[in-house]
Amino acid sequence: MTVIALADERRDELAGRFGGVLVGPGDSTYDALRACHNGLIDKRPALLASCRGTADVAEAVRFAVAEGLELAVRGGGHNVSGRAVCDGGLVIDLSLMRGVDVDPESRTARVQGGALWSDVNRETAVHGLAVTGGAVSTTGVGGLTLGGGLGWLMGLYGLAADNLLEAEVVLATGEVVRARPDSHEDLFWALRGGGGNFGVVTSFVFQLHPLAEVVGGLVAHPIDAAGDMLRFYRDFTADVPDDLTIFAGLVHAPDGSGMPLAALVICHAGPRERALQEVQPLVTWGTPAMVEVGPMPYPAINGMLDDGFPAGSLNYWKSTFVRGIEDGLVDTMVERFASCPSPMGAILFEHFHGAVTRVGREETAVPHRATGYNLLIPEVWMDPATTDANIAWTRETYDAFAPYRADGRWLNYFGDDEAPNELDAAYGPNRGRLAEVKRRYDPDNVFHLNHNIVP
Ligand SMILES: Cc1cc2nc3c(=O)[nH]c(=O)nc-3n(C[C@H](O)[C@H](O)[C@H](O)COP(=O)(O)OP(=O)(O)OC[C@H]3O[C@@H](n4cnc5c(N)ncnc54)[C@H](O)[C@@H]3O)c2cc1C
Repeated sequence: MTVIALADERRDELAGRFGGVLVGPGDSTYDALRACHNGLIDKRPALLASCRGTADVAEAVRFAVAEGLELAVRGGGHNVSGRAVCDGGLVIDLSLMRGVDVDPESRTARVQGGALWSDVNRETAVHGLAVTGGAVSTTGVGGLTLGGGLGWLMGLYGLAADNLLEAEVVLATGEVVRARPDSHEDLFWALRGGGGNFGVVTSFVFQLHPLAEVVGGLVAHPIDAAGDMLRFYRDFTADVPDDLTIFAGLVHAPDGSGMPLAALVICHAGPRERALQEVQPLVTWGTPAMVEVGPMPYPAINGMLDDGFPAGSLNYWKSTFVRGIEDGLVDTMVERFASCPSPMGAILFEHFHGAVTRVGREETAVPHRATGYNLLIPEVWMDPATTDANIAWTRETYDAFAPYRADGRWLNYFGDDEAPNELDAAYGPNRGRLAEVKRRYDPDNVFHLNHNIVP
């Protein structure tokens, strides 16, 4: 049932037992609140319920179910697919729930479900602590962690989800449970990689690690060096310590010139002296056009790429794990990048190694545990007139990589147009068990605006 706007008496009924803010069409904040990071998303919910706490989330879930309303859950609003909002229906908006409470003694943090990684970094850095978040700091903790959460520290500390100790979840019944290794174990397993399928996570408890500083930054080469640099990257990353994570790719200069570049993005989380030594070959290779590498606080490296992904920009992404960085793949990449229609487009490798690969494929719901590379085409543009050209280029580029694909695909990068069978590539051997957990916790598929596990 598509509800365009909710009748006043229905909205008033929820308002009577709700401590947050209800926003519908006609309210002044409606457009800002329904907007997602991806400016292509333009959905018009009947009501957005901005919750202040767990009780509000439980009321909103019960209300949506009782009214038969479509239900969406908005964490940081970053998912390219735009499933954090819906046309008609109710959006549970968590943007008022961004609290982060660090316990420096146990080195843990309880993080509310609507926090962004920048919120986490800010509070944990006070204590010289950190945990794996995304590669940029503007993404939401909620969606990123539930989808696994790869980032700069994954070689050393695993994925964001690997550092999860507990999650407080509002289930489809409105019941509130805490999932951890010794309670609701099946749910705890599924939350670490199964996406938003099982309920609304109102808070996450993460294990933190002592880490105040990293040695990192950016090395950019003229685009003519692209092929050689990618082959150098392949050879160099064949043997790197856990604390050194490097992404490489073909990008455009973020200074507005749109100049195409071949770039290495480096994060070394080891002790400063060793880190400086170990990044040296990355800095001295070839004839770089720009080198900005040095010691910096962890939050600085986590925010370094934020400006390349502005809120409201238009986004269409594709990604796949690859069998390796074969010469043919490098050539295809260089050739395809040359026709990229956007001055903000990129093609990137994300290196999986170290701690992230030492977790079993079925130990959490994230099956992507092999050493290797994820290939990402994060197409971003600003001019709506070029939307068709950008989407077409991204699809063609992705198709051109078909001969080099490995089995897996990273769930968090899925867009809105993936065929249902592509979920096999995302959930791998865990899809069956995820469906069992789904049957147990959400048999009516109340939470289906996600990359859906059908019960
Ligand atoms: C610029 C950019 C950079 C990115 N970098 C990375 C990266 O480095 N590593 C990586 O792994 N991914 C990355 N991603 C992908 C990102 O992890 C996903 O888009 C993720 O879903 C974002 O989380 P969110 O809370 O902001 O999303 P939202 O759009 O708010 O939510 C996405 C989905 O997650 C679910 N959800 C969100 N919060 C909750 C909650 N509290 N409880 C229950 N369900 C919830 C909902 O089902 C919702 O549909 C990036 C995306 C962008 C746009």
